[in-house]
Amino acid sequence: MAISRRRLLTMPPKLHAFALPPAGPAVMARATGTGLLPFQPLHWPVMRLELLFLGTGTSAGIPMIGCECEVCTSSDPRDTRTRPSVLIRYPRAAANGEVDTAEAPPAEPAQLLVDTAPELREQVVRHRIRAIDGVLYTHNHADHIFGIDDLRRFNAVMQRPIDLFAEPQIIQWLRETFGYIFEPHRNINKSFIPQLIPQPINPAEPFDLCGGRWTPLRLMHGHLPILGFRVDAAGAALAYCTDVSGIPPETYPHLCDLDVLVIDGLRYRHHPTHLTIDQALEQIDRIAPRRAYLTHMAHDVRHAELEARLPEGVHLAFDGLRVHCDGR
Ligand SMILES: [Zn+2]
Ligand SMILES: [Zn+2]
Ligand SMILES: [Zn+2]
Repeated sequence: MAISRRRLLTMPPKLHAFALPPAGPAVMARATGTGLLPFQPLHWPVMRLELLFLGTGTSAGIPMIGCECEVCTSSDPRDTRTRPSVLIRYPRAAANGEVDTAEAPPAEPAQLLVDTAPELREQVVRHRIRAIDGVLYTHNHADHIFGIDDLRRFNAVMQRPIDLFAEPQIIQWLRETFGYIFEPHRNINKSFIPQLIPQPINPAEPFDLCGGRWTPLRLMHGHLPILGFRVDAAGAALAYCTDVSGIPPETYPHLCDLDVLVIDGLRYRHHPTHLTIDQALEQIDRIAPRRAYLTHMAHDVRHAELEARLPEGVHLAFDGLRVHCDGR
């Protein structure tokens, strides 16, 4: 039967089913929008607390627009830094509070996103992250927030809204800044917007998420009070403290006995709202985690050069690095 020209234009193209390529180093690199980023699918079951660095760069990202310095033009992939987001994963607790055992098929791990960097889409696609259990915000700077619109794809895939954990003043700022998301009745067209449920949190008031205990930590980012997070799960503990220039005395007790500390290490020269590399190392000495990772680096830092000089147990993070916490 002949198909009219009009009908042809409105028919969807025939799609062919395809299998995902196998995981591992053989998986081909594929352009995802910002350059050649290798696919690095995540695996489960997850037996331990782990942190995946989705982005480790400062607010401008590395390479920076219009910069030809040796880091911005480096061929070392660890010198390419997207804006800061991390994914924290751990075994999901069953309804009775017990973590899954070998007898039952393991549940998919709990996956919590900290911050939504402007490159969130590329970061998530790179690791094929399909589901998250919530988003936690450290503060409301553009480099930590402006990927918020990409959360709508998780709504579509998971078919449910997403909890958004942030301090009350950050929730208020989100409502004012992203009116199209939080006051959709004012949108002229009904459109595809993220479905988010704001959940207020406060420093030093822990809460449980999917079997992990989260403690918001007060940090100072210049004069701006912001949050870091401590996570205790699967018998281990980590803390994520980005965008920090000072740690108030009352926060140190919450940083005791850490397997992994992630802390801001912007550059060598002084900055009013970030720790320098030396200041970060002083904080690591004082907090004494088993391992520490610097993040939020500017283009002053060439990965291979600094990594070789860092003390034992201290490393530079890079985009795509996964860190496991073994516990004690
Ligand atoms: Zn930042
Ligand atoms: Zn540069
Ligand atoms: Zn900031």
